[in-house]
Amino acid sequence: MPTAPLASGPTGPTHLRPLLDTVLTALHEGTAARPGPLPAGGPTAVTDHVRRTLGDPLPEHGTGDEEALATVVRLLAEGAADPADPLCAAHLHCPPLAVATAADLAASALNPSMDSWDQAPAASTLETLVTDALADLVHPGLRPTATALVTTGATESNHLALLLAREHHAPAPLQLVTGDNAHHSLQRAAWLLGMPEPVTVPTPTGTLDPAALNETLVELSTDTVLVAATAGTTDAGHIDPLPALADVCEHHGARLHVDAAYGGTLLFSDRRRHLLQGLDRAQTVSLDLHKLGWQPVAAGLLSVRDPRETRTLAHHADYLNADDDTRAGLPDLLDRSLRTTRRPDILKIATTLRALGRTGIGELVDQVCDLASEFARTVDSHPRFELYARPTLSTVLFRPHHLSDPHIAKIRLNLLTGGHAVLGRAHLGGRLWLKATLLNPHTRPGDLAGLLKLVEGHTSR
Ligand SMILES: *Cc1c(COP(=O)(O)O)cnc(C)c1O
Repeated sequence: MPTAPLASGPTGPTHLRPLLDTVLTALHEGTAARPGPLPAGGPTAVTDHVRRTLGDPLPEHGTGDEEALATVVRLLAEGAADPADPLCAAHLHCPPLAVATAADLAASALNPSMDSWDQAPAASTLETLVTDALADLVHPGLRPTATALVTTGATESNHLALLLAREHHAPAPLQLVTGDNAHHSLQRAAWLLGMPEPVTVPTPTGTLDPAALNETLVELSTDTVLVAATAGTTDAGHIDPLPALADVCEHHGARLHVDAAYGGTLLFSDRRRHLLQGLDRAQTVSLDLHKLGWQPVAAGLLSVRDPRETRTLAHHADYLNADDDTRAGLPDLLDRSLRTTRRPDILKIATTLRALGRTGIGELVDQVCDLASEFARTVDSHPRFELYARPTLSTVLFRPHHLSDPHIAKIRLNLLTGGHAVLGRAHLGGRLWLKATLLNPHTRPGDLAGLLKLVEGHTSR
């Protein structure tokens, strides 16, 4: 065996197989060594353990593939906050499907880079076919058909959405208007793109009110406006009233973007697709399959209603898209992203879509949303807990009765540093809530009853 075997090529799989066995054993052992959803002891204990186990991160002489994999992978698993544990439910941090993770291994082995056809012949076609299908789900029945760009997540998708909007209206300066329930990445994107300070509409009910938006647009001194609405707020999983917002935008000639990072995959569900009515009226839609799509990070998409708009991203680099190559029929991929070297994230997505089909993914979406509804009912009927609101998606906000905000914050931190549970927090309606973001389709109601018991047990500490 050569000393540094490669992952691809005719002998790649042969070299990988025993190493994968080492990885899987290390995952198994590391996970078994962690008694809860995350390691106990907080940052100090975890840092000490990692430092001690790793030793010199750049040793003069290596330990060899087997030892390095066994040590580092075990270390990571032992110290993970594992979203496959029912009590790890703070963030939009999903447990990835085994099928998607297995496919992602092939992406690493083959290592296509999506910036030119001669690095990714089949992968570039796969990306075109799959993104077209997903764009057609978001923006059905259009001619020319909508397209979707693959991104690292909704932060990049929102950034691209603002860029396409700005260029569409250029040279007029573009004013972004959002609800104050919108994701912080929109503010940052506006800042990064040198756009005017965004106008924020207060959202006391949790969603962007069409009448309030209308008033804001009436008062604005410009009509070059991009409104960004949210389908699935990060704090509460609320969906803005899209059809009415689209009407207001249409009335004012404003462009609409919908950040559907969290809620977008309701499109796969026969039972819940209606909640996204009006989504197709947005010019651009952000979607994250590494949330309610069970993909390993990263799996973001931006669906673009008018595919011609992506031409603004076109760029010429002779070594990647020379004119004679393009004339010879090599697809020019540089207008698909602002990145150059780019992982084939589409591979895991394509494999998952094929393995589960639309309805299979829709059923997973329904499972976690049903679970959230059931958990919300449990909280609501519990004598010692208060429910914030009935969930739209899979986020449940709750708090123990009669406790102060600092006390509730302390409970969350104690559960975290004790290694017992990973819960989120949200400040809504002037009060602090504990947040359970349920993304694990294998979590059972009994697990969540256990979570309430755990919180109850910590109220007196
Ligand atoms: C998660 C999220 C984002 C950010 O997406 P990343 O994938 O983390 O970049 C943006 N908007 C909303 C509504 C989100 O839930």
